[in-house]
Amino acid sequence: MNKLKLVKLKNPGDKTTFTVGGITVGKDFLNIAGPCSIENEQQTIEIAIAVKAAGANILRGGAFKPRTSPYNFQGLGLEGLKILEKAKNITGLPVVTEVMDPRDVNITCQYVDILQIGTRNILNYPLLREVGKTGKPVLLKRGMHSTLKEWLCSAEYILAEGNQKVILCERGIKTLETYTRNTLDLSIIPAVHEVSHLPVIVDPSHGTGRASLIEKMCLAAVAAGAEGLMLEVHPTPEAAKCDRSQQLTIQEYRKVIGQSIKLKEYLDTLYPNFDGMTELTSRPTSLQIKGF
Ligand code: PEP
Ligand code: MN
Repeated sequence: MNKLKLVKLKNPGDKTTFTVGGITVGKDFLNIAGPCSIENEQQTIEIAIAVKAAGANILRGGAFKPRTSPYNFQGLGLEGLKILEKAKNITGLPVVTEVMDPRDVNITCQYVDILQIGTRNILNYPLLREVGKTGKPVLLKRGMHSTLKEWLCSAEYILAEGNQKVILCERGIKTLETYTRNTLDLSIIPAVHEVSHLPVIVDPSHGTGRASLIEKMCLAAVAAGAEGLMLEVHPTPEAAKCDRSQQLTIQEYRKVIGQSIKLKEYLDTLYPNFDGMTELTSRPTSLQIKGF
């Protein structure tokens, strides 16, 4: 039986594209930015305006937060969704937020443009089916323990419900390394492109857990052919309700995204439709890839 009937690449060069707001995912480079969690209206709107001015084209922010401890800040829930919608109306940026519970999928759809499935829910099959049924774009984080095949199998659940609008997001995996929060696996980007038509973006914020490493990882992700970046930004990271060490200040974000956009434009002039495939690499058909 073919486990990856829908997500796998059928013809070399095939690419899934779809629109969100005025953006064509899979063609336009995605610059997703915003706070780890929505803390209040003022914080969210300040960040939304600042990241848009810096070059972001999608706003992120967590309303339902998956926290390791049940005693940590769990997010503002519905109030957070309403704040996100307000920020969207002010800036015109489409918004993405994580949904953790199948019971929250419908209400979340009323407020956001893209549903995010977090690393912890990659194997939550009822949730994957539920977001598949909505037909809304889905940003599917890689499981912290998942192989490429397991990740694509989770995407297959969404496509099997008739929803083609999936964006994969590499966010680091657990390895024996402890200096970084996770190990950002950038080799997975060209690997995805070898076997699937789905777009893949990179989240160096959760991938490294360290603000100091993010700029270099953004540049490397662009060079590896990622279709976008997702970054956490906060006006005062040291006072954030979560993920303090990895959130960029607005000034840092401006620099990081400016450099990343410059590199992307440069690579686009070197290679038409640059996606990490140079003269040295061609996109093989899925049939040539053992096991897919
Ligand atoms: C997030 O992006 O808000 C998040 C919690 O990420 P992850 O699921 O990758 O840990
Ligand atoms: Mn976070």
